[in-house]
Amino acid sequence: MVETCLIFSPHQDDACLACGGAILKKTKKKENIVIINTCNGRNVFLLFFGVKDNPSPKEIEQIRNEEDIKAMNLLGVPKENIIFLGFEDVLMYKQRKNAEEKILELIKKIKPSEVYIPSDIEIHPDHIITSEVVKKCLRKINFKNPVYEYYVWSRSKIKEKKDLITVDISEELDMKKKAIQEYKSQVEIFLPQQKEPVLEKEFINQFYQNKEFFKKIDIFKNENILYKFYKGIKVRFISLLWTKFKI
Ligand SMILES: [Zn+2]
Repeated sequence: MVETCLIFSPHQDDACLACGGAILKKTKKKENIVIINTCNGRNVFLLFFGVKDNPSPKEIEQIRNEEDIKAMNLLGVPKENIIFLGFEDVLMYKQRKNAEEKILELIKKIKPSEVYIPSDIEIHPDHIITSEVVKKCLRKINFKNPVYEYYVWSRSKIKEKKDLITVDISEELDMKKKAIQEYKSQVEIFLPQQKEPVLEKEFINQFYQNKEFFKKIDIFKNENILYKFYKGIKVRFISLLWTKFKI
């Protein structure tokens, strides 16, 4: 049986940014990779620049999905291995139950040999909810294979530490950079209203390094109740802050 590495990406570019080198290393060894994008990423221009139309959120979603397919193709992941669940950007916490059902069903079907998820220390609510929902689903099926966290918005806080796994991606870096450049709507000035790209150069540069960091986590470990409470507040507060004024 072919073993499958399953990577959850809250938005279309997250898996590439944080794991692009590791993905390419695996596909070079003919390992099977499946990417599940949980959110649709369609509200990014509305949230950042107040753009409601032309392109519409639906068009943005389409553009971002296509960018992801092109980028992942460069990293050796075929189109049929990329799944878009399309939960509403920034509001995934409101669809948690639905997300749990869909993700559980997919995990049971894919039967991954290892799983990668975004860290729950991230600031973005969709990253936190994706992390929490996947962990819950994995616990439900008593998943005993390795689970790793990766870092996008918290990347700057991550340095080489004892409990982190460092992957040398120096041979994959050039292709990873090309793959990141495929997310044109995020890394370039895409609309005339923009002065800066959605993802600024300084942010992107964090991922143009020859190392990627992961942490092997124990999904069965009891979580500190205060930390859980803090995360819940963070998700609601940031989602509300964005959506109240923008969406
Ligand atoms: Zn994201």
